[in-house]
Amino acid sequence: MKACMVKLGIFVAMVVLLFGLTTFGLSASADYSSPKDDIYLTLVNKDHRLPVGWEDKIELETAYNFQGEEFQVERETLRHFESLRDDLLLQGIDIELDSTYRTIDGQIDVWEWFRNEGYSDDYCFSHLAIPGFSEHHTGLAIDIGIIKDGVFINDNDEMIAEREIFAKIHERLADHGFILRYPPDRENSTGYSYEPWHFRYVGEEHAKFMTEFGMTLEEYLEMLPA
Ligand SMILES: [Zn+2]
Repeated sequence: MKACMVKLGIFVAMVVLLFGLTTFGLSASADYSSPKDDIYLTLVNKDHRLPVGWEDKIELETAYNFQGEEFQVERETLRHFESLRDDLLLQGIDIELDSTYRTIDGQIDVWEWFRNEGYSDDYCFSHLAIPGFSEHHTGLAIDIGIIKDGVFINDNDEMIAEREIFAKIHERLADHGFILRYPPDRENSTGYSYEPWHFRYVGEEHAKFMTEFGMTLEEYLEMLPA
């Protein structure tokens, strides 16, 4: 029944999207011949490696979190992260950068860190991307931590336990052009289990559509005209 409803939802979404594309065009993609040429819709997952020459397509900017840690983030992604953070601060929620752009060597370091901390191979393979296949290589993905009662929370299990705060954060993502990239129970589509802290910038129009219809980036891209 649930699978049936999801299929119906995707069908309705497809009709609405195709109607929107043919009738109005996508304003966000005005500069592109096809929505698939939009760099903000680039897919990097377990089956899709970072495109060759990616670094020449984006502009990275430097940002800092409250601890003075330095991060590199794609320009538009950073601008929208800042608007999301300001918006949430008005609601008393403090989100901070925890991990952003990573080089392939940086991803190798992540693997080493998890292994040194004693995480099992099973855990690593289901939670960590193989170097070259991490969305963090794009500069369009951001992992956040939250400051709660003066304490910085960035441990995966502790963040998953903060359901209420993360629900409020997730509600605001699409307005700022982000999607929750690895939603609960969608591992069959994304390849990853739930990560409430990992956001991906795709632009407001695409983010709102995917959020509205509960679609993953993989499902959305499959629907778009070539
Ligand atoms: Zn991440």
